[in-house]
Amino acid sequence: MRYDVAIIGTGPAGLEAAITLTIRKKNIILIGKKNSSSKVRSAEKIDNYLGIPSVSGDDLARKMLDHAASMGVEITEGRATLIYPYGEYFGIQCGEEMIEATSVILATGVAPANTLPGENEFLGRGVSYCATCDAAMYKEKKALVISYSKDYEEEAEFLKKYASEVIYIPAYKEDEKNAAALTDVPGISVMNAKPLEIKGGFKANTLVTDQGEIQADGIFILRDQISAASLVPGLETEGGNVKCARDMSTSVPGLYAAGDIAGAPYQLIKAAGEGLTAALSAVKYLVEKK
Ligand SMILES: Cc1cc2nc3c(=O)[nH]c(=O)nc-3n(C[C@H](O)[C@H](O)[C@H](O)COP(=O)(O)OP(=O)(O)OC[C@H]3O[C@@H](n4cnc5c(N)ncnc54)[C@H](O)[C@@H]3O)c2cc1C
Repeated sequence: MRYDVAIIGTGPAGLEAAITLTIRKKNIILIGKKNSSSKVRSAEKIDNYLGIPSVSGDDLARKMLDHAASMGVEITEGRATLIYPYGEYFGIQCGEEMIEATSVILATGVAPANTLPGENEFLGRGVSYCATCDAAMYKEKKALVISYSKDYEEEAEFLKKYASEVIYIPAYKEDEKNAAALTDVPGISVMNAKPLEIKGGFKANTLVTDQGEIQADGIFILRDQISAASLVPGLETEGGNVKCARDMSTSVPGLYAAGDIAGAPYQLIKAAGEGLTAALSAVKYLVEKK
């Protein structure tokens, strides 16, 4: 089955794009987290969202999700790890599944400011962004996980089902480093170290940290955002953000970007507005394709 539009990300940009495309009766898939965006939820008080004054991030995220659900928008829980433009359509790698869509809207939030030295070079050669997709390749091998959110502890446990040994490095805030749940899992060791660089030969095999070098057969880097250039090969970026025209089109025909990933200002209402613009541009693209 080929969707008209795949929307990646369930923050304000992605949800608004999904609502607009649903109104326009397009066949869509919305991929991301069912509870929207941790960025939205972490805002204590938001005063600049038109029509909803003095709202907490949690409440606003709930209102956005309820709005989308009331329009019939469904969220496919998952993480896109590669989007490949084939010309006529896009292939979107999501877990073990390859999803097809004629057009794609990238609404994945602000790109990571800094990738680790060696990360881009070894991506696909010993460096992976998705334990669900690549765990099976590390059967009876030693895997290392650099995790930027507590949410990924589950992925490390899943990885251990295949790997003989998993070293888990929590690279998140001190007060969130409650990785205790993982220390009880046989075969997983939690290590507090600062990742500095990935090294290897043809394949990555070493993580350099402030505590010394760690050897591993595979290095998993688990963070919410993947850089746009890694997600879509050949996509033009500028300072880490996707280069967009006013209609949110990008250098790849049929691919649109919206929200923080499309650049500053990093604000909710701008993200939602761009979600709408990208959706309408995708509708136009679908018409022209016919
Ligand atoms: C503490 C804090 C307070 C803030 N306060 C305000 C405020 O008062 N007013 C204001 O206007 N703005 C505020 N902001 C900024 C605002 O939250 C962002 O501008 C807004 O959330 C951007 O929306 P977005 O949809 O572009 O991206 P995000 O909200 O970042 O959502 C992106 C979503 O995409 C998902 N995603 C990423 N990669 C993938 C992938 N490969 N596959 C599937 N899903 C993926 C992410 O998990 C996330 O759920 C605040 C931000 C923070 C952190």
